[in-house]
Amino acid sequence: MSASNGQIEHVSKKQKYAVCIACIGLLQSGSTSNVITQISEAMLSGDHDADAFTLALALPVCLSLRVHRIWTLLKQAYPQIPEKGRTDHIATMKDVWKNLVGPPLGKMVDKTFIQGQYIEFIMNISASYAGDMEDCKIMDQLCESTFALRRKQHKKYAGGVYSKQSVDAAIKRLTDEEFLKVCPNPPCIPTEAITFTGLKWQRDSIYMAGRYNKYSRELPQTPWFVEGERKMGSSVQELLCEILNKSVKAEDYRFSSSGREDVDVRCLGNGRPFVIEFINPCKTRFSRKEITEFQKEVNLSSEMIQLRDLQIVDKKDVKNLKEGEEEKTKAYCALCIARSGYDPSLLNQLSGVKELVIQQKTPVRVLHRRPLLTRPRIIHEMWASSIDNFFFKLHLTTQAGTYIKEFVHGDLGRTTPNVRSILGLDVDIIALDVERVALDWPPKCSE
Ligand SMILES: [Zn+2]
Repeated sequence: MSASNGQIEHVSKKQKYAVCIACIGLLQSGSTSNVITQISEAMLSGDHDADAFTLALALPVCLSLRVHRIWTLLKQAYPQIPEKGRTDHIATMKDVWKNLVGPPLGKMVDKTFIQGQYIEFIMNISASYAGDMEDCKIMDQLCESTFALRRKQHKKYAGGVYSKQSVDAAIKRLTDEEFLKVCPNPPCIPTEAITFTGLKWQRDSIYMAGRYNKYSRELPQTPWFVEGERKMGSSVQELLCEILNKSVKAEDYRFSSSGREDVDVRCLGNGRPFVIEFINPCKTRFSRKEITEFQKEVNLSSEMIQLRDLQIVDKKDVKNLKEGEEEKTKAYCALCIARSGYDPSLLNQLSGVKELVIQQKTPVRVLHRRPLLTRPRIIHEMWASSIDNFFFKLHLTTQAGTYIKEFVHGDLGRTTPNVRSILGLDVDIIALDVERVALDWPPKCSE
């Protein structure tokens, strides 16, 4: 090892101390205070309401390669030293680092540092080393077949030619003798110590559920784009989520609902159940009173929607929203017109219809995004009331997923039977309202 001694002297003239060849400075004294400040600033900027946190550390790929090199040389020089700890050397190194950094960091951010168990709030830290790639190049000689191929197809490998997984797996396949043939010397002295680059918190999602009414015929449920161009100013999703996220401060959110309505369809009655998943939130703890305040704020913000039964729900209960969605019934009211006039007594042919099975081909208007299928759907019940000799109201209870507009006008014969064919009249639909979504979830809130 005399060659490397020379190197150490050479380096030590330029630097205060040589960077450790095994940990690249990760565990060297004085190296942690900077990173503690760095992480605490990142954590405090999020202003999380978690009491505890844990740390996750990603190390440069070459670190396990370096440690392996040192182990093989040690074993060669002192065959009697025990192998104990060799395989989880890197994990131990990480644990030592976390225990150096965690407790003082916890004091700075006023949260308890917890290690070795599941915590909903994780601070992810990546350590990088400028010479990582250079170090890894020895892999081409150690395991030519693997890395020559990866180099050729490098576009396929998102983690780069020398991913942690590929390097670790390649090392594992080699015996110490094979390894030493290519790497007879200890790893070179690092040109600089590890730096900490990616500091990113990660927190479990929270879920808020409720029901919404939509009173506008010009409001889509989700942001609506036609060929890249925005249609309509807002959406139910945005009106709800953007106000709520001012308090939750999540990185992103996902809105889902029990079925959906067209932009020109109102949703009345008890409203439509929905869930919002807030991804990577800063705030997750809200009192019942605060939730009620959020609901009020949404309701005051727009005349187009109203919100009720807003609550935080468990992740495991979210499945209630989609479960049995196909079997759930929905009640509608359709305003219809018979353009050439009609005899109101004709409406008796609609009233009293029970469990009528219709065949619906995917409507022309949604064919661009849904597959072409013929699906049976059930009209559980319907009745009609006349307004005058041109207009009437049709009330229906149907299986979820029934296309109501098409059931009224027949969609050029793609839905059979339909109101037009039953009445033998040229009937069209003017307006549609959802009156009830039969799903007893989320539970009602007493406010
Ligand atoms: Zn070290």
